[in-house]
This record gives sequence, structure tokens and C-alpha cells, in this order.
Amino acid sequence: MSNAPGILRITRWLRFRLTLSYVIFFTLLLVIVGFFFRGALNSIQNEQVNEILEEEWGAVRGYLKIQRDSLDRIQAVWAYDHDDPETDLIVERLRSICLIADSDGRVIEVSDTYRRIGIDSPVIIRQLIRANRSTVGIREASDNEKFMVRSGIIIDEKHPVYVAIGRSLSANNAVLNRFTTLYLTLLPIMILGCSLLGWFVSKRALTPVTELAARTEAISGSNLSLRIPLRGAGDELDHLISTFNNMVERLEKSFIQTRQFSTDVSHELRTPLTVIRGQLEVALLTATKEDQYREAMMTALHDVERLSNTVRALLHLSQAESGQLTLQVSEFNLCTLVEDIAEHFRILADAGGVQFSIHMQQPCIISGDRIQIERLVSNLLSNAIKYTPHDGKVGIHVSQNQSDATIIVEDTGRGIPPEAMPHIFDRYYRVPGQQRDPETGLGLGLNFVSWIVRAHKGSIDVDSTVGKGTRFVVKFPITGMDNSTPSEQKETQDV
Ligand code: ADP
Repeated sequence: MSNAPGILRITRWLRFRLTLSYVIFFTLLLVIVGFFFRGALNSIQNEQVNEILEEEWGAVRGYLKIQRDSLDRIQAVWAYDHDDPETDLIVERLRSICLIADSDGRVIEVSDTYRRIGIDSPVIIRQLIRANRSTVGIREASDNEKFMVRSGIIIDEKHPVYVAIGRSLSANNAVLNRFTTLYLTLLPIMILGCSLLGWFVSKRALTPVTELAARTEAISGSNLSLRIPLRGAGDELDHLISTFNNMVERLEKSFIQTRQFSTDVSHELRTPLTVIRGQLEVALLTATKEDQYREAMMTALHDVERLSNTVRALLHLSQAESGQLTLQVSEFNLCTLVEDIAEHFRILADAGGVQFSIHMQQPCIISGDRIQIERLVSNLLSNAIKYTPHDGKVGIHVSQNQSDATIIVEDTGRGIPPEAMPHIFDRYYRVPGQQRDPETGLGLGLNFVSWIVRAHKGSIDVDSTVGKGTRFVVKFPITGMDNSTPSEQKETQDV
């Protein structure tokens, strides 16, 4: 029933795809996380350098004095206790990366390292002094070394000067580079770990599917009663299993129905054939007079009639289902049609002691397939008479309004139990307990009736009470029927 190696190959392919998606996702995540941490580390380090520069800026304010020399030139003097080695070290550090310029942008003092960074343009210096603004930024020296530079204005004795001090970021960059190297070394190991984990996790996730495949293999045409037990997790797989079990159940039902049908058909055909054969043999052996031959032939003819009706019903149904039956639509008077058929059924009803009545609201012109509607009325009337006991009543009503024509067939017969109601239009369905009733047929009549109703875009309703009777109401739209193959029309559940 199932192709296990195929399913296993699919699950292996599925497992591979699951792992691949997992690995791609984690690689992307790891790369993003790496970038994020590298950025965070960089900004934390820059923050620290910035704080140090702020402290150093305070020291600059304390130690730097501005004065004019004898030629009225601005001079920068670092005033501190030269005997104090600690202060000496601090000022030396400040002056190692430092630029001092006057309000015209003329350089007063510049360290060698600052020269490598590049001396600020006098225009910018003048603008900053005018605006009394300080700046912090990262600048790159000619040899690509990076520096954080803090600049500002110091006003001493009303002489504003531009001062910029800096700190190398090479230590920070070394930390960043070490982080990047370490991360890039670890990345393939982490990806490999993720792949293994993904492969293992997807194997675990797909194990129930593989088990399901193995179990479905055990179910075959001769073993349709087997069901796959639910795992109880209430997840998608449980849903899949219950859907699969439902499908097998439907298949099993259909298998049983078909088997039952084959048995019924052979019984249905064999019994009258045996009877006909017996009657003809007896007639051949015993009949001497013409009347006796005639009577034997009449009985045989009656049985042949029944046989051909059964065969015809089967043929119609298979034609209808395969779409070979095309509606021959014409306009006709439904009342006349019902009156014609009713004559035949009145005789049947009389024979069964059933009171038969017709109620007609003339005229009743509809457009549809005359022969199929005749079959529909015949099926409903034949059922009504068949399932109504002696002294019961069967009636047919035909009426019409502006949009539909309505046919009502009602009886005071045995009725249909409520649990059978949803199935009576199913193919081969007979109410349980009646299967061996000589009155019941093959369970094809109502199925064909519902097909005819659907083909005419009509509707059928049934109302029944056990022991009281049954009422079928069929409605057809008066207009709008074309010649068409009903199988092309959308199946609608009318009942
Ligand atoms: P069948 O050929 O067995 O009559 P149908 O498809 O015509 O098959 O009907 C299906 C089943 O519905 C019947 O076996 C019968 O049990 C029930 N049924 C149909 N019409 C009536 C009715 N008028 N009264 C009681 N039962 C009915």
C-alpha cells in the first residue's frame, strides 16, 4: 500500500533540508551576534578613552597658562612643579599628543605625533574659537594608526587658544582584532556543532514520521481494519494520524460496501435467473395446453422485467457517475408527466391496498430532462408504495410559483429512523435491518434521485417519522437549465 523506501528517502531528504535551514539560520545568527559584540566592545573601549581624555582635558586646564611675550606674541606655558615626577609624567603625556593654536589658527605648540595625525586647518580653528565649541572625534594618522582627539577652547587672561589632545586607539584595535580572530576561529566550530545538533534534532523530530511510514506499510487492502494508534501529544503528527485513520476508515467502508454490493448484485441477478429457468423447465416438462405455456411465459417475462430494471438502474448510475449521461433539456408540462406516471402507480398502490391520491396545481411548465424527471418521480413513488403497508396512504402534490416547481411525495408508511437519515442518499445504502426485506432494492434509487436533482440545480428535503410516514420535497428552478453534462456541475450537498 505504501512505498516505504520512497518515504524513507523523502524523510532523509526532509531531514537534510531541516538541518540545512537550521544551520543557515544559526550561521546568520552567529554572524549577526559577532558583529553586534564587536561593535559593542568597540564602543565600550571608545567610551573609556573618551572618559580618560575628559580627565586629561581637566589637567590641561590646570597646567596650561597663556601669556604674551615681549613681542606681544601669544605663548603657551605649562606651569607645574618640575620636581614632582608624577606631575612631570602627566604633563609629558599631555604634550606627547597635543596641538595648541592661537585665535588666528597659528600653531603655538604641536607634538610630533599630532603632526602625524595632521594639523587642524586655521579656518576650522577660527570657527571653533568663535563658537567656543569643543569636539571629540576619531582621526587616522598618515600611518593608519587611529587616535581619539578631544579639542576645545581655553581662555586664559582673555587670550583664547585652541587646544587639541589625543590618545592612540591602537590598544583598542588590538583587542578588537584579537576578538575577531578568536570569533572567526570559533565560528566554523560552532557551525559544525550546530550542524550536528540540527542533524540529531531533525532525526528526533522525524522519528514519528518514519514510524508512521512503517506502520502504514502494514495496512493493505486485505487489512483495512488496522489503525495507527495516536501518540497522545495532540500535535500536528497526531492530527495527521487521525486524518489518515479517518481516510482508512472511509476506504474500509467503501470496500465493505463494494463487497456487499457485489454479493447483492449476484444474489439479485441469480435468484430471478434461477426462478425463470425453473419456470421454463417446468413448463417444458409439464405444460400441455397453450394457457399453461402462456402463464409460464408471463411469469418469466415479469421476472425478466425486474431483472432488466435492476440492470438499467446500475447502468444509469455508472453513466451518471462517469459523466456520460447528458441532460436532454426541453420545456414540458410537469403535471401531465406526473399524471401519466401516476396511472401506473395507482395500479401498484391498489394491488398493495394503499390509498393513492394526486394533487395538481395547473399549469406547471418547467424546463428540464423529461426522462430523468420521470425516473425521479417513479423512484419516489415506488419507494412510497413499497414502504407503506396495507391501508396506508400515498400522495403526490405538484405546484409551482414564480421561481420553482415543487413535487411532494408523502406516505404514511414505516418511516426512516433518524440515524439513517444522513445516509439515505448514499449509494447502496439501505436502512439497517431491512437488507433482507424482499421489498428493499439495491439502495441505488435515492442516490440516483439526488443525482437528478443536482443535475437540475434543484434541491431535495426529506422529513420522516418512524411508524408515521415520510415526505420528500423536491424543488426545481423553472428556468435556466441548459443541455449540459451534469458531472461538470459542482457537486452540492442538498440533503
Ligand atoms: P432501495 O432500492 O433499497 O429502496 P433507495 O435508495 O431508494 O433504495 O432507498 C434507500 C433506503 O431508504 C431504502 O432501503 C429504505 O430503507 C429507505 N426509504 C426510502 N424511501 C422510503 C420511504 N418512503 N419510506 C421508508 N423508507 C424509505
